[in-house]
Amino acid sequence: MKNMEVYTPGHGLITDSLILQGICRYLAWHSVYDARIIRIGDRFKINFQHDLRLTDTEYTEYFENLRLACQTYLERQQINSSQIIEKIYTANINLPIFKRWLNQLLDSLNKISLMDFSENHKIVKKEGRNAKGKNLITLYLPLSSVYGKYVITNYRSSQTNYSVCDQCFLFANLGLIYGTTVLRSNKGDKSSVVFTTFLPQTETQLLDLLLLQRLTEFAHHEFLNSDVPLLACPLYFLSFGETMISVENIQALIWRIEKNGNFQRSLDVSLIRLDKILEFISAVKLQIPSWPKIVNKIIQDKSGDGQIILSDIAEALVFGTRDTYKIIRRLVSYVMNGEEKDEIAKVLDKVTLTLERTTKEQ
Ligand SMILES: [Zn+2]
Repeated sequence: MKNMEVYTPGHGLITDSLILQGICRYLAWHSVYDARIIRIGDRFKINFQHDLRLTDTEYTEYFENLRLACQTYLERQQINSSQIIEKIYTANINLPIFKRWLNQLLDSLNKISLMDFSENHKIVKKEGRNAKGKNLITLYLPLSSVYGKYVITNYRSSQTNYSVCDQCFLFANLGLIYGTTVLRSNKGDKSSVVFTTFLPQTETQLLDLLLLQRLTEFAHHEFLNSDVPLLACPLYFLSFGETMISVENIQALIWRIEKNGNFQRSLDVSLIRLDKILEFISAVKLQIPSWPKIVNKIIQDKSGDGQIILSDIAEALVFGTRDTYKIIRRLVSYVMNGEEKDEIAKVLDKVTLTLERTTKEQ
């Protein structure tokens, strides 16, 4: 057994978090479940003990599945041919590049040898903004969104490309497929996609991030509506899964990209604590088993009020707003006007009580 130490390359917090999620999955496919993940600024260091082999069975099987999904799509052009393809399609706001994206993913799957993320990987591979190496691939906006500074238009996209090697591209894609939730809303000519992934605030164990991947793998949803507030997204997706996970030192990274006509840009980004949201969800689900169904209705509310309520609840939980009165008033008015008022009215007091209790225990 070798002592291994790998680093995410330093392509920004969003890309590095995606690559981290990809590395977690890759390690699990090699039957490595024991690893320490340490955050260093916007990068992560992963320590584990193992001799990774290219012939590890699970590893070859999963990579073969991914390869097959890409190949099948490229032959038949059916979006719903696999969950993997559907998720990348939902995440991508630039339709003309979709086929290229999958071709590049297939290509990087064919080229992959053993994972090689050394501390100075980015320099060795000459990756970065405006990098023009022959073997480098552009990181598409969903995989690289940088704090709202990264704006591309049809005219300027060539000036702001961020390019990486096949391995970074592949692992960022693995992170998107297995370690990120994707919520897309379309209205007229406008599409907005909100992504959520998880990372350690300082340090965590591989197993905790792998347990969270059970909630994020393949998770994507698309509906006709106006923008969903960032904070509503983790509350929505986490409502559907196992909530008995230890997330003490884990944060949620949430970001949004938007297409308006031909104009694409990255907008908000937010890094929040996760413990209170999960605590609230597990408490509320104990009392209201139909909670996931209710959340699913609220988030698809056409008026947009429902999404704001979810976001308000998350905000109260994350930032410890003591004044839950405002949220409860909004909930009541939503219930009075909503289409599903009876069902939600029945559980209203249980939701507000749980919310009050969870926010008070900050
Ligand atoms: Zn790279």
